[in-house]
Amino acid sequence: MTTTATTTATEPLLSIRDLTMTFPGRRARSAPVRAVDGISFDVAAGETLGLVGESGCGKSTTGRLIVRLLEPTAGSITYAGRDISHLPQRTLKPLRKDLQMVFQDPHSSLNPRQTVARIISDPLVVQGSSAAQARKRAVELMELVGLIPEHVDRYPHEFSGGQAQRIGIARSLATGPRLVVADEPVSALDVSVQAQIVNLMERLQQDLGLAYLFIAHDLSVVKRVCDRVAVMYLGRIVEIGDKERVYAAPAHPYTRALLSAVPLPDPAAERARERITLLGDPPSPATPPPGCAFHPRCHKAQDICRSEAPLLRITTPGEAREAACHFPEEA
Ligand code: SF4
Repeated sequence: MTTTATTTATEPLLSIRDLTMTFPGRRARSAPVRAVDGISFDVAAGETLGLVGESGCGKSTTGRLIVRLLEPTAGSITYAGRDISHLPQRTLKPLRKDLQMVFQDPHSSLNPRQTVARIISDPLVVQGSSAAQARKRAVELMELVGLIPEHVDRYPHEFSGGQAQRIGIARSLATGPRLVVADEPVSALDVSVQAQIVNLMERLQQDLGLAYLFIAHDLSVVKRVCDRVAVMYLGRIVEIGDKERVYAAPAHPYTRALLSAVPLPDPAAERARERITLLGDPPSPATPPPGCAFHPRCHKAQDICRSEAPLLRITTPGEAREAACHFPEEA
C-alpha cells in the first residue's frame, strides 16, 4: 500500500472516501448546504487524527457521519474493511460497540433523569448484557476514568463539568470500542480541567489501544494529542499530514493563519512571530465562493484562485503532507 498524507502506513481501521453530506436549505427555495464536500482520509488502529477548523467548517458533521448518526449523501465510510455508509440501523447495531462518540458539552449529553450507573451501562444493555453485568461494568469504568465508584448512583447534576466529561468518556468505553470520535471533548471545560481530561484520554488510548478522531478548534490541544492533523475549511480538507510537518511548516495559507494565532510558550518568540489576520467570517456553505473557497480571505489569492479549485496534493516531494493550494507556502 502506498502511503500519502491522507492514507496510513498500515491497513486503516477507518477509511473515508469522497464523503459528502448535503442538508436541505432552511427555507423552501433556499440552496442546499453542502456541509461536507468530498473529503477523504484514513485512521489507523491506535492512531489519533486531529480534525481542526473554524466553527461551521463541517468537522462535527464528519464525526457524526463516521459513527453513522447521519447517513452520507455520497462517498463511502469503510470500517475494518466493511462499507458501513448506508447500513440500516438494525445492521449497524453490533458495529456500534466498536464506534463510539464523546460529545462537547458533557452535561447536555447526559440524561439528567438517569443515574450514572444507568447512563454508563445503557450501551451494554442495548448490546445484550444483563442489568447486573452492565452495572458491575459501570462501576469498573467509573474507577478507570478516575471517578469514585461509590458515586455510581448519583445524577449528572451532582458532578462538575470535568467529572461529567469523565462520565461521558466512561459511557463511550462501555462496549469496548476501537475508534472513538471525540467532538470538542474539552472545549466546554476550564483550562486546568482540560489538561486532566486530555491526560486521561491519552492514558486510555495507551491502555486500551484506542484510535481517536479528535475534533477541535483549539490547535494547541490538537498538537498535544494527535499523530496527524487534517484542517477543514468550508466542508473540504485543505491540508492534512504528519503533525510535526504541518505545525512546523504549514503549506496552506489558512493553516498558517490558524497557527499564527496559537500562543507560544516563549514570550520572546511570541513577540517576534508574524500574526496573520483572517479577513472577515467564513462564507456560508450554502453559497461557497467559486474556485478556491478560501480566496476571499486569502492574502495570496490570484486570478486562478477565483476560478479553479485547487486539488489536495503533496506539495513537497517525499513528505507525508498534502495541501489544496495553487501557491502553497514553501517548506
Ligand atoms: Fe490562497 Fe489561492 Fe491557495 Fe486558495 S489557492 S489558499 S486563494 S493562494
